[in-house]
Amino acid sequence: MNKIQRGALAALLIVIVVIAALAPAGIGFLFAQRSQRHDEAERLNTVARAALHRAEDVTRRLSGALGEIGKVAATPCSPPYLKELRRIALTHEQVRDAGAYDHDGRWQCSSLLGAVSAGVLDGLTLPPPDWRSRDGIMAWYGLSRLPGGKSSLVMGRNGFYVAADPSLYVDTLDANDEVASGVAVINTEVSRVIATTPATDANAILAVYRTAAPARDCSPYVVRRSVSMPLAVVVSAPHQTLHQRLRTLPWGWLLGGVVVGLACASWAAFFIVRRLSPRGQLTDAVRRHQFIVAYQPIVDLGTRRCVGAEALVRWKYHDRIVRPDHFIPLAEHRGLIQAITDQVLDTILLELGDFLKRYPEYYVSVNLSAQDLTTHRFLDVLGPAIAQQGVRPSQIRIEATERSFLDAEAAKEVISAFRDAGHAVYLDDFGTGYSSLSHLQNFRIDGLKIDKSFVDTVGQDAASSSVASHIIDMATTLDVQVIAEGIEHEEQAAYLYARGAQFGQGWLFSAPLTAAEFIRYAGRTRGA
Ligand code: C2E
Ligand code: CA
Ligand code: CA
Repeated sequence: MNKIQRGALAALLIVIVVIAALAPAGIGFLFAQRSQRHDEAERLNTVARAALHRAEDVTRRLSGALGEIGKVAATPCSPPYLKELRRIALTHEQVRDAGAYDHDGRWQCSSLLGAVSAGVLDGLTLPPPDWRSRDGIMAWYGLSRLPGGKSSLVMGRNGFYVAADPSLYVDTLDANDEVASGVAVINTEVSRVIATTPATDANAILAVYRTAAPARDCSPYVVRRSVSMPLAVVVSAPHQTLHQRLRTLPWGWLLGGVVVGLACASWAAFFIVRRLSPRGQLTDAVRRHQFIVAYQPIVDLGTRRCVGAEALVRWKYHDRIVRPDHFIPLAEHRGLIQAITDQVLDTILLELGDFLKRYPEYYVSVNLSAQDLTTHRFLDVLGPAIAQQGVRPSQIRIEATERSFLDAEAAKEVISAFRDAGHAVYLDDFGTGYSSLSHLQNFRIDGLKIDKSFVDTVGQDAASSSVASHIIDMATTLDVQVIAEGIEHEEQAAYLYARGAQFGQGWLFSAPLTAAEFIRYAGRTRGA
């Protein structure tokens, strides 16, 4: 991953962590708001219920009073009649005035002002009613030319009327009420506002009633309709400032969201760091089988014929090939090496299984790590796997370095088991460790691989230039095979062969190959 990709990735991670933190906090905030709105709507509903009840009650009482006037037996507008009207106006506290008019709507008399003859009502005519019920009740909303001068709500029938203060309809509400800022009562048959609380915009309320959607200021509204009368009330919530909203916000939700957000962010950060750490990526690679195997031919130094290959694992990371030196130590450290060893074996059998079955003289050697050599696990995997493919045990050889002898006793035992099962075992990187010699004596092995560093010095004047030769002598004495690694020049091959090394491996012969290339290479050196 280059610097730019790393930067982009880091930015992406920050974005993910921030989202993980903010999303639950945001959801918490939304829930808090919802809960706040729900509470508000509940409160508005309660106010609306009371207001509707009040409006129905006032209407009922006014029609009751109207009914009583209808029953007065005295001649309309006669002194006894006016006396009755006054009595009715007095006994019904909602009734401000009561009176009579003729069939042209001209005023005849009023409980407050007496008969037309008194002069005050002379020539006063009622306008056409704002509403008329099927049974003849009429209503005028907001008549101001009435006796008393104030805007009145008038209900009339058969030539007599009662007038009331419209605010009676809405006086359930305290002016300083925090729950609702405005209440309006509406006649639903003619969509007229009957009464509103002070400072309530009747037109806005009417618009809300008609469209059932909040008007300009976006405050919530509740509309409630009467089932028995053509009445509805609209209650609007007070327009709250941000400060008021924050004060009444259910902070529990928000805090809960923030806590969950922090938890999510930490989890996301942990998860991402883990996934993107080398360890996480390697674990991923194991899970996704992202390993491939290269085969480096091993040749007979005398005949130069290929006798087998060393399987060298590579990690296919996106479009890059990662060398084993860069991930094997980590895999060993993180306990992933055994899974990798198994995948290498699977790949070998998949790619070269048929070849090995057909040509029993060839072998493939597999590099094992310390963990592979502490138990019989790999042997238990190997046995059935090759048996199923028809590959002979002698065709799979084992390479173990000194580093893999950490638990020497266990390694010794496992190596013996491999050999007993028919797998030749080689001591890899021979000469680079502290006690290569003692291992050679203590472990029963089939061969050793002279490390490239000693092959490199062959033919040079360096003090170590004869080490390879000594190693070969020792191996000959102990009767173990020698494979010289990292041969790059013909002189090295000739020298090592002359000293007694039977096998060699290195770029002089071939670099590590794909399976198909290796099969072709083996065919060529066979002379096929
Ligand atoms: P090794 O077992 O000593 O493998 C030989 C290494 O030397 C290979 O490197 C090979 O590509 C390289 N090499 C071969 N001939 C020449 C040459 O002529 N000149 C030069 N300069 N290099 C040459 P590679 O493939 O990078 O492997 C490095 C090491 O990784 C191996 O060293 C081995 O210890 C380890 N390794 C490879 N595959 C596996 C595996 O499947 N399991 C385990 N546990 N370790 C592995
Ligand atoms: Ca090796
Ligand atoms: Ca080696």
